[in-house]
Amino acid sequence: MKTITVLGATGSIGTQTLDVVRKNRKDFHIAALTGGSNVKKMAELVIEFQPDYVVMKDEEKIKELEYLIPGEECQMLCGMEGLLRVSKLRGVNTVVAAMVGMIGLRPVIEAIRSGKDIALANKETLVTAGHIIMPLAKRHKVRILPVDSEHSAIFQSLHGEKRSQIETIFLTASGGPFRSYSREELEQVTVEQALAHPNWLMGPKITVDSATMINKGLEIIEAKWLFGVPLSKIHVVVQPQSIIHSMVGFRDGAVMAQLGTPDMRLPIQYALYYPKRVFLDGERLDFEKIAEIHFEKPNTDVLRGIPLAMEASRIGGTMPTVMNAANEYAVAKFLNKEIKFLQIYDMIEHAMKYHNRVGNPSLSEILEAEKETYARLDAEWRII
Ligand code: NDP
Ligand code: MG
Repeated sequence: MKTITVLGATGSIGTQTLDVVRKNRKDFHIAALTGGSNVKKMAELVIEFQPDYVVMKDEEKIKELEYLIPGEECQMLCGMEGLLRVSKLRGVNTVVAAMVGMIGLRPVIEAIRSGKDIALANKETLVTAGHIIMPLAKRHKVRILPVDSEHSAIFQSLHGEKRSQIETIFLTASGGPFRSYSREELEQVTVEQALAHPNWLMGPKITVDSATMINKGLEIIEAKWLFGVPLSKIHVVVQPQSIIHSMVGFRDGAVMAQLGTPDMRLPIQYALYYPKRVFLDGERLDFEKIAEIHFEKPNTDVLRGIPLAMEASRIGGTMPTVMNAANEYAVAKFLNKEIKFLQIYDMIEHAMKYHNRVGNPSLSEILEAEKETYARLDAEWRII
């Protein structure tokens, strides 16, 4: 039996993680579940999974939770203090990092320091602090097991192979809902359109990131850290049906790929059971129905997510943090209908342009760069 903590249990990845647990109850004990504001969802999860600890965003949310489930005996904590505490609980083998955004950074670092394996969905942590996380994981002999479907596909394709043999990583992308839109059409897109992803049902932030292609940019940086390859070896290939989840090309010309229906439970389950494979219900690929798989070049002229992220990664230091924080800020504003879709790129560019990069930043310098980005955009977003 494995004891796990799920950070971001009330979200899309969190609930799918708990679906895997639900179907394999004898294999897991839940030490802690964390959420932000969704008290109703958390109340259901607590009743069903009986965790030892629960963490919510603040005291008010804890009070609401206590009111909904008065008889439950689990310990209820809140805020960053609570998150840090449950990230290092004794007896936990794996921490599932499924929170959205940079808020996951400190809990992930705390979990690694306490020797927990990390099932990592929260890509923002690697984007901003890959240079801290990867060596730290090595030092503490913990595994960073990718949950992001592309990275899980690469990880699976690398099974039994030497990383030194990698020639190219082919990161596949669906291209999002706007892949064939012109600039004029993109000027007009609404939040509702951006939230309608053609293949995947995900949380709102990553759904917008997929529409802007920032998600693919973040994933390039995530792949760079996870697999220790330079940016020049990572190529994005658009494969609109999301059947090939990514591929690895080797020095002898062989290309290994992982295929499947778009179902996040597979990479989640693979990370939880690695290196074992267990049964997963659900649809299987039917190659006669698919008939053909088609590929395109990504549209990087208007959907500038990939070039912006690559530039941030090339500059390095605190720049990926600024790119990521500006994106988090801008996506929240877009979802709130305060800015237009294309202004997301303008805000990221603006924040990057005025940032003085700090090389090899410490955790506190990363958090400082995040704060600085928010302060700059708070002051200037109306004039960008
Ligand atoms: P969701 O928005 O669905 O869930 C986010 C989770 O984080 C929720 O549990 C939410 O709590 C919690 N959270 C948000 N803000 C706070 C906060 N301030 N304090 C504490 N908890 C907070 O996101 P997803 O599940 O879609 O994505 C999670 C991560 O996984 C992201 O980094 C994303 O990029 C990555 N990912 C997601 C994929 C997917 O298919 N969804 C695929 C690949 C990667 P609450 O809802 O209770 O407020
Ligand atoms: Mg992905």
